[in-house]
Amino acid sequence: MAKLLSDNSVEFSAADILQAWENAPILINKEPELVRMCYICKFHMLQEKFNHQEIGELGWVIDLINAKKPELISSNFVAIHPYCLEYKAKSDNSKVLKKIKSQIWKFDEEAFKEQ
Ligand SMILES: [Zn+2]
Repeated sequence: MAKLLSDNSVEFSAADILQAWENAPILINKEPELVRMCYICKFHMLQEKFNHQEIGELGWVIDLINAKKPELISSNFVAIHPYCLEYKAKSDNSKVLKKIKSQIWKFDEEAFKEQ
């Protein structure tokens, strides 16, 4: 279980971290344990880069799917890029995430090679 600390930050348990990752959309041609997609920018994240904040590191943090009802439960956690937090259109992204997860996403190897 996640814990709210006295400085208003949240301490996540290993199970929360795992569930936030599991709640992020998968890419059909990538191993879901290692690579998933950020539902905001549709670019990928690397599992091993949890809590990496730098752009280009493809790191991720835990965000609330529905911040309107800010429950600290694992079904409300999702992995997203730290720099995409400010690009969320709404405070409740349950429907947006559900829609994106119902679609099929593929990692574009060709586009990435050219960088
Ligand atoms: Zn992103």
